[in-house]
Amino acid sequence: MQHTHSQEDFFQAQQLIPGGVNSPVRAFKSVGSTPVFIKEGKGAYLVDVDGNEYVDFVQSWGPLIFGHRDETIENAVIDAVKHGLSFGAPTEAETELASKVVELFDSIDKVRFVSSGTEAVMSAIRLARGFTGRDDIVKFEGCYHGHSDSLLVSAGSGAATFGTPSSPGVPADFTKHTLLAKYNDIESVKKCFADSNDIACVIIEPIAGNMGLVPADKEFLKELRELCDEHGTLLIFDEVMSGFRATLRGAETITGVTPDLVTLGKVIGGGMPVGAFGGRAEIMSQLSPEGPVYQAGTLSGNPVAMAAGNAALGKLKQNSRVIEVLQTRASRLMEGLEEACSKYGIPCQTTVRGSMFGFFFNENRVKNFDDAAKTDAELFAKFHAGMLEAGFYFACSLYETGFISTAITDEMIERTIEAFDTVLGNISGK
Ligand SMILES: *Cc1c(COP(=O)(O)O)cnc(C)c1O
Repeated sequence: MQHTHSQEDFFQAQQLIPGGVNSPVRAFKSVGSTPVFIKEGKGAYLVDVDGNEYVDFVQSWGPLIFGHRDETIENAVIDAVKHGLSFGAPTEAETELASKVVELFDSIDKVRFVSSGTEAVMSAIRLARGFTGRDDIVKFEGCYHGHSDSLLVSAGSGAATFGTPSSPGVPADFTKHTLLAKYNDIESVKKCFADSNDIACVIIEPIAGNMGLVPADKEFLKELRELCDEHGTLLIFDEVMSGFRATLRGAETITGVTPDLVTLGKVIGGGMPVGAFGGRAEIMSQLSPEGPVYQAGTLSGNPVAMAAGNAALGKLKQNSRVIEVLQTRASRLMEGLEEACSKYGIPCQTTVRGSMFGFFFNENRVKNFDDAAKTDAELFAKFHAGMLEAGFYFACSLYETGFISTAITDEMIERTIEAFDTVLGNISGK
């Protein structure tokens, strides 16, 4: 495979954009290589500027559950564009998307739209603090909730990959209200509650996707819910990644635990920038202009973005078994990886939740960030490079989750599995 155009593009971009990218993980730094520049997407495929095609298991880091250039979404966007790009005034499309979200999530009575997952989480935290009149929050090591100041503490994926769990530029005064607990470890949460009686909320990815794919144990979530109730603390499920990906109606339907607030992003925008947060009416009514907690956005509820979101969620609702079908493909893919690994004596742990898949080259099951960090990073880098050269685009960090879209066929899955065998065989020298 030739990458000369990508290499030239990357060189030029680095002169003008820090690191050549507008979001750090895209730079391929964690696998010690350089990124391919993308020209276009076609269904299951990414096409780079050198004309190479890759089966895409990243899908813009989650949003594109129907693959690239899905006709329904594309047409909805084109139609919306023709009516105007932005009004800064209410539109029916916002109420339409809100009604879909409220219908799908039992825990959501009311929802507000923003333009990114970061914004959704930042706003949900402010709301939780405003509602409870408390300052402290609890987050888990390895969970990522966007790049706002108080949440950039041991934040998984990008942050972990670069070895800077908390970033320079974030004053300690801002993070002193953020208490850290260990994922799937209820004792560590109890300790937070023992240390502070001022905890506004506990925020968690119920299906963590930013330390690799690590779902929370049901029992752990149940105890977490009980602890929150005992202390008058809100429980926030950050489903920016898992929402409409792991299951259609939220992690609450597979964990049996109901959160007070939910944050959404990625799939909800169908590929356009949309985030959302929602929950019980009693809490949401504290938001401005109904209540005193301020939150706003010039482009929030943007009509073109809402059109993409409505098309994507509309399609998911019409084909409610879609996620199960994708889960079957994801399971087959991970089964194939495990077989190839065992053939070459490489340790491997895999997980599937709906259209999300994750794997670690580890001996033991991964239950938290410390376990995830035990992955053989060098092996992962070789695996990533080998698969890319074979025409398969996997996330360039071992702390990221993989995704199946409806455009990825069974035949493509089988081809990917064959490539696992070749690539891992080459790496192991057998
Ligand atoms: C991606 C992600 C975010 C941040 O969303 P952005 O749109 O990148 O700001 C927040 N929380 C989780 C769980 C995510 O996966």
